[in-house]
Amino acid sequence: MSTSLWDQVIKIKQEKLRSVGDKFKKRNWGRLSTDEKSNQINAFMDFMIKELNITNRPTLSFSTSLEKDVAGEYDPHRNKIIIAKPLLCKKSGKELALTIGHELRHAYQRQLYRNSEGLKIASGMYTTAENRILYYINNPKGEPATEWGRNMFISYISEGPGYWEQPIEEDAHAYEAILSEMLFGQNYRKEINKKLKKFRNKYLKF
Ligand SMILES: [Zn+2]
Repeated sequence: MSTSLWDQVIKIKQEKLRSVGDKFKKRNWGRLSTDEKSNQINAFMDFMIKELNITNRPTLSFSTSLEKDVAGEYDPHRNKIIIAKPLLCKKSGKELALTIGHELRHAYQRQLYRNSEGLKIASGMYTTAENRILYYINNPKGEPATEWGRNMFISYISEGPGYWEQPIEEDAHAYEAILSEMLFGQNYRKEINKKLKKFRNKYLKF
């Protein structure tokens, strides 16, 4: 049986991510000191920022004052990720890693939105067909970015009905699902698992 180049690339990526994920599994994570955990988290942040091509590195802090059931938050104004402190104390670091991945995805959404706004302004100044084409080449995700922007600034729902279905959360959860599969070879959250099939094709390029 022959393996396509694409399959080989995915396989290499999976192996790389799996070795990153292993460090958060119970048998490794549970043995780390607080300092070692902190180093591990920083290394993971660096890795993910590179994966997502985030140009402006968000800061990360832990808090005991997030609302109940909230694992993390991304504050776009301060470019800051806040993680619920109890996640640090769990025996396994899986949920922590995935929450960081989820919040970094929100940072990525912001970046994509900002970049697409700049491109739209530029494309409005050039009315030639060549420039329009260039705009679409440079901005293949123009539509999600517009939809995300509307969701970020106008219609964001922070909890309750509609939370899961809104564009930026749907995207961040889909990303979390793919990440979970790549890092740990599984999805530990039932609600994410259910959604994974729907998103797998859409996010195959990850
Ligand atoms: Zn979110």
